[in-house]
Amino acid sequence: MIKEFLSFVRDHYSSDENDFIPLHAPVFRGNEIKYLTDTIESTFVSSVGAYVDKFEEQMKLLTGAKYAVATVNGTSALHISLHSLGISLGDEVITQALSFVATANAIKYTGAEPLFLDVDRDSMSLSPESVTDYLKNHCDYNNGHIINRKSGRRIKAIIPMHTFGNPGRIEELKEIADDFQLPIIEDAAESLGSFVKEQHTGTFGKLGIFSFNGNKTVTCGGGGAVVTDDENFGKRLKHITTTAKVSHAWEYAHDELGFNYRMPNLNAALACAQLEQLEGFLLEKRNLAGKYIQFFENKDENFKNEIANTRSNYWLNTIEFQNRSARDQFLKETNVAKVMTRPAWNLLSNLPMYQHCISDSLENSKYLADRLVNIPSGVRWKN
Ligand SMILES: *Cc1c(COP(=O)(O)O)cnc(C)c1O
Repeated sequence: MIKEFLSFVRDHYSSDENDFIPLHAPVFRGNEIKYLTDTIESTFVSSVGAYVDKFEEQMKLLTGAKYAVATVNGTSALHISLHSLGISLGDEVITQALSFVATANAIKYTGAEPLFLDVDRDSMSLSPESVTDYLKNHCDYNNGHIINRKSGRRIKAIIPMHTFGNPGRIEELKEIADDFQLPIIEDAAESLGSFVKEQHTGTFGKLGIFSFNGNKTVTCGGGGAVVTDDENFGKRLKHITTTAKVSHAWEYAHDELGFNYRMPNLNAALACAQLEQLEGFLLEKRNLAGKYIQFFENKDENFKNEIANTRSNYWLNTIEFQNRSARDQFLKETNVAKVMTRPAWNLLSNLPMYQHCISDSLENSKYLADRLVNIPSGVRWKN
């Protein structure tokens, strides 16, 4: 399979054997240079500028959210979302152990602790069953507070993440969260352009966040966004990401603890040019995913396709091996052959700073962490 895979990938990217094939590299083929030049000529390169506003408008259009707030990266978008919900020292936030470290880090920045629950095997994202089970069987209810019996801490929110761009069961999670009156912050960092039915990921929860880091579907060097339909949150997030400065022609007045989290205009210019190309990127990525699906149809490995009623952006195409040793052999041979492949993240519950955190059995998370591999998924850079 491995030799066949290598020539399949090289063929798709029309590359010869000496080219390195990355997992996902940015492609700048639109108005990037033009918009960047605009910002420099206007001198508005920092956190005030027309492109930041334009980027927020584009994000609203794309996601259908009423408010969008541009941030310096996805991690700060998560942090400010948690902060705006009043999550702080001694609280607990439910999330998945199968995620990028930023998800747990943002929780920790507020002083809260992550509570790691299991994912579904098919979607690779937070499992509604594991959340229901934990809230029903491992928590006490006191004055409308949900207390984790094991830690005595209050559970304040849920952060599901749409793994590798494949949407998870967010509608079910939303129902559960509503029943328990817990807000959802959707970590949609990886799922720009992914939908559940006709609704964009990131718009199901109270708040949703996106990332525009260098390896994401669309990049602006570094950048992020929070989207919400709630006017109070929309306005307050803008305020506290811009140092909570009260508008005045010359006075410095700040009415609460603020953050310097606003995306610079320079990055926003890049983001605007990239977003204009999103549809084309998504088409090409879907086309490649279709070819991978065919390729793996009669193989031992299982391509992780989108689940029913969802539309993936196929950010990182993923295959599941039958066991860890077959996976490791594949990782070794492909990387030696300069075709980049990568296992899923180490489970966050195994990292030194999160080892003490409470989790459920994480049965599916462990199963997947041993078997998943990301394969080249970027847009072709050679044409
Ligand atoms: C990329 C990513 C982030 C954070 O984004 P940055 O822009 O790199 O800070 C958060 N969560 C997940 C799941 C991500 O993949």
